[in-house]
Amino acid sequence: MLITAKGLVIRETPVGEFDKMLTVLTAEHGKISVFARGAKRMKSPYFVSTHMFCYSEFVLRKTTDIFYINDCSLIDGFFDLRSTLEGSALASYIADVARDISTENTDETKLLRLTLNCLFAIAKGKKPLPLIKAVFELRAVCYAGFLPRLSGCDVCGRAPLPTYFFDIAAGVFLCEECYHARAKLLEEEAGKINEAESIYAAAHTIVQISPGVFAAVIYALSSPPEKIFSFTLADDAMHDFSALCEKYLLCHLERDFKTLEFYHTIVT
Ligand SMILES: [Zn+2]
Repeated sequence: MLITAKGLVIRETPVGEFDKMLTVLTAEHGKISVFARGAKRMKSPYFVSTHMFCYSEFVLRKTTDIFYINDCSLIDGFFDLRSTLEGSALASYIADVARDISTENTDETKLLRLTLNCLFAIAKGKKPLPLIKAVFELRAVCYAGFLPRLSGCDVCGRAPLPTYFFDIAAGVFLCEECYHARAKLLEEEAGKINEAESIYAAAHTIVQISPGVFAAVIYALSSPPEKIFSFTLADDAMHDFSALCEKYLLCHLERDFKTLEFYHTIVT
């Protein structure tokens, strides 16, 4: 049976001298494995449309768990994102996260659209990379099922607040009073069971942010897909927003990404 699907190549692995195994993110079928026979040959009709970050239309034939290419044509190669090392590094990290959180036989329309929007923005070069990265991380981790509660202080319900304490592990915001009360409780509990490390670990999942950064979190999560990067932040606020989004993603996906480590060696 043949199926037609538009998909983004989020990993390519060489197989032998001429073939490649691709991981492709599609809207309707989720993440799929595609064997691209002969695609490494320059003369192959699949050569152009099966590279990393290529968004292509595939005609596929399925046998067992793997799809084989019957035909494919390039829609967008995002070739300009390779023009800077920083952009290329960020795109690799984004593809890595998309691969990690996407699943097979699932509708991944939202994740595919977000990923394409990010690659498009990197290729265009008009938005700061830390902004693209942070918005991607926040929305991606929400698509993976970890939406933070955004209704002001999670304990007393006060909103808006002069300063917000974000409990990253719990995905909730606290006011200053409730944060101190909770920290005191943790301290007392930890004192009883003599576990100083747990105080330390608890403290490390809290980040304090300004109302401007809180507004950025709300905007990044609630804006329509075509406007997700249409906001700006001062340098300090951008730094806090970036740190929050990265910590939130790493905490909830419970893993590290080598591509993120590499990105940080060139973008601090
Ligand atoms: Zn409160």
